[in-house]
Amino acid sequence: MKGEAKAPVRKDINEDFPLRGFVACACCGTPLTACWSRGRNGLHAYYLCHGKPNGTKCSQYGKSVRKDKLEGEFEALLSDMKPSQEMFFLAAEIFTDLWNVRCNDAKQEADAIRRSLIQIERKTEQFLDRIAEADNQILITAYEKKIRQLEEEKVAHDEKIAQCGRPLQSFDETFRTAFSFLSNPHKLWVSDRLEHKRAVLKLAFSERLRYCRNEGFRTPEKSLPFSLLEQNYRGSNEMVLLRGVEPPTY
Ligand SMILES: [Zn+2]
Repeated sequence: MKGEAKAPVRKDINEDFPLRGFVACACCGTPLTACWSRGRNGLHAYYLCHGKPNGTKCSQYGKSVRKDKLEGEFEALLSDMKPSQEMFFLAAEIFTDLWNVRCNDAKQEADAIRRSLIQIERKTEQFLDRIAEADNQILITAYEKKIRQLEEEKVAHDEKIAQCGRPLQSFDETFRTAFSFLSNPHKLWVSDRLEHKRAVLKLAFSERLRYCRNEGFRTPEKSLPFSLLEQNYRGSNEMVLLRGVEPPTY
């Protein structure tokens, strides 16, 4: 929490400059700021560095980049972030398998809880029988205490079983959104909504992008899913072989 925010959400980020605060100057590392500027042909939108690391102005200080240029280059970069079809299908298959493994585990857990519920009910009945036969008040009180404990256990088990083996959403609902994003993050970026753009920035990159006025974007640090999906197919063949080993180990 003390570290620097990697993909910050800034209060002043606005519809006009979705990349503001997220792209840093390649020279000094300061996040670029943005502004509208009045020129001869009307208003123009710019991103620019206002960095003064150690009190000295960055060499790029105040030198602006047209919004269209910077955002256009960003879109080109994002468009390249499409995993190969092989990697994509492999990932989908692994997720499906994992999902099924989890479902199966949950089912087994639920069965175990059901069995112990039956045990609890049996014990409760036994104590009730003993109370009926007992004439010693101390014993009766002890049995009643036992029964109360069993009742509490039963409630706890009932709660557990209600949460067991029932995913909050179906596989399709859960992964459709995620996979549609992973298959093409650019599609979400061009949506009209700013929160979608922010989601792309936060999900696709693990740190601020760096932009150089003359050379464009530096190679970005992509988030884990994208860097994994980008691996070449040779790597994925090895994964396929691994999957052939029983029981599967992920
Ligand atoms: Zn700078």
